[in-house]
Amino acid sequence: MTAMLLDTFGRAATDMRVSLTDKCNLRCTYCMPAEGLPWLPAPELLTDDEIVRLVTVAASMGVTTVRLTGGEPLIRPGLPGLVERLASLVELSLTTNGLGLTKLAQPLADAGLRRVNVSLDTLRPERFLSLTRRDRFDDVIAGLAAATAAGLSPVKVNTVLMRGVNDDEAGDLLAWCLDHGYELRFIEQMPLDPQHGWDRSTMVAADEILEMLSGRHELTPCERGTAPAEVWLVDGGPARVGVVGSVTRPFCGTCDRIRLTADGQLRTCLFAREESDLRAPLRAGATDAELAVRMQVAVRGKKAGHGIDDPDFLQPDRPMSAIGG
Ligand code: SAM
Ligand code: SF4
Repeated sequence: MTAMLLDTFGRAATDMRVSLTDKCNLRCTYCMPAEGLPWLPAPELLTDDEIVRLVTVAASMGVTTVRLTGGEPLIRPGLPGLVERLASLVELSLTTNGLGLTKLAQPLADAGLRRVNVSLDTLRPERFLSLTRRDRFDDVIAGLAAATAAGLSPVKVNTVLMRGVNDDEAGDLLAWCLDHGYELRFIEQMPLDPQHGWDRSTMVAADEILEMLSGRHELTPCERGTAPAEVWLVDGGPARVGVVGSVTRPFCGTCDRIRLTADGQLRTCLFAREESDLRAPLRAGATDAELAVRMQVAVRGKKAGHGIDDPDFLQPDRPMSAIGG
């Protein structure tokens, strides 16, 4: 290993989120406008070879886990081939809206993918339609079942609760996930929407989610590692539920993550306002050592925290779907 990716607060980057595309086949209201976004032009997207090269360099400096995301990663053509190449370098997981998993879960598992997180914010098909602007509820449910059948484990479900939209479903979602053997993760809504509609005062906070769940279940806290989610055993376990309290219970002090956007920009935080261009040097013929130095310099600039509570906080210019959620 050449050197670790260390920041000035002593944190080492060992986990990388890699966005495979900014495009998506859903239009979740909190993530994208109905008409979509100005998509990245194809020549700006990293090719499979370029992604493999950058992950190889990152792995040589201690990145051991990679989560593929987007946009919707399953719409990237030839995904099983890319997964096979990356799985020989790092431990690989993927976050998806679940559309297409019925076809892809088995090829991806065969290619070396270990785990999936499938996003699902409601169990009501008509609510799914208004939340995602697409009538695809049944496909997501079938995709989840396909993930289990393919041996991807654990299968996690990501849910963003929004007040007056789906916050009445917290208990039902947990009961349903327990029934189906999925591990549920609630994610606090973050100020990353292109519409700039996020409002802290109406956000459904981690404390409130826990209160809703503990009315129906006994929750026992598990030891917290560096993962974003705080996790509880449900009714003594082994089933578990997690809450990612990025806003009200920030975990920046132990953050081990960096992000690579689909157009080859390295970001040290979801909320960073700076990016380091890796694509330009890569395409200009930089050596692995030169790319490694560029990554190290970027990581050294990582801030102590996301600063959402700072009075001068500014939402990043790119929305979640373009950064890679
Ligand atoms: N399309 C895939 C999916 O939906 O899982 C991967 C990308 S998506 C941006 C990743 C996760 O981010 C999803 O679970 C989604 O619900 C979540 N997300 C999107 N916008 C968010 C926001 N403003 N705050 C919190 N989570 C958000
Ligand atoms: Fe697409 Fe995921 Fe954003 Fe929904 S949350 S619009 S599925 S990228």
